[in-house]
Amino acid sequence: MQIVCLDLEGVLVPEIWIEFANRTGITELRRTTRDEPNYDTLMKFRLDLLSKHKLGLPDIQKVIAEMGPMAGAKDFLDDLRQQFQVIILSDTFYEFAMPLMQQLGMPALFCHKLEADNSGMLVNYHLRMPNQKKEAVQRFKELQFKVIAAGDSYNDTAMLGEAHAGILFHPPENVIREFPQFPVTMNYAELKAEILKASARI
Ligand SMILES: [Mg+2]
Repeated sequence: MQIVCLDLEGVLVPEIWIEFANRTGITELRRTTRDEPNYDTLMKFRLDLLSKHKLGLPDIQKVIAEMGPMAGAKDFLDDLRQQFQVIILSDTFYEFAMPLMQQLGMPALFCHKLEADNSGMLVNYHLRMPNQKKEAVQRFKELQFKVIAAGDSYNDTAMLGEAHAGILFHPPENVIREFPQFPVTMNYAELKAEILKASARI
């Protein structure tokens, strides 16, 4: 039995924080772990910023719903799910992803959780566990699944390495250079072809 694990942001939907910053004009939200390597500091900074701008969860979800998935993502996913069990492994939060998941036909998603107070303001975040993408792939293997994984960025490479087959999708140049062991795909047709190739091999 084979299972396909997909990253979410940069594969099926836009980078949520970046796109959110663009749409709201709150440019400080473009800060990433490249600018602030301490993830906890970065997240507290983001949540503070949202509450300073009086953006509660309903406002945030409205902006995210308007982003929509990437062009062709829903068709790609629908087609893939005819042949494989697909699980999306993401470092985003359920509360952010849900408006987009609805537009993707509610595929299975494993990610993290946000905590809002009674007024809808975000007060904290809860990570499922460290390295959850790689850990999830490991657990699927223990359940006797063959795993094909695809993602676009650094935070996917451990998952790609753990899977029986790892595939890069539209990655930045430095990731292509540093991880030559993974085939590179640039669009959904190429990704589907590479998944089928892996499926025949593993
Ligand atoms: Mg990504």
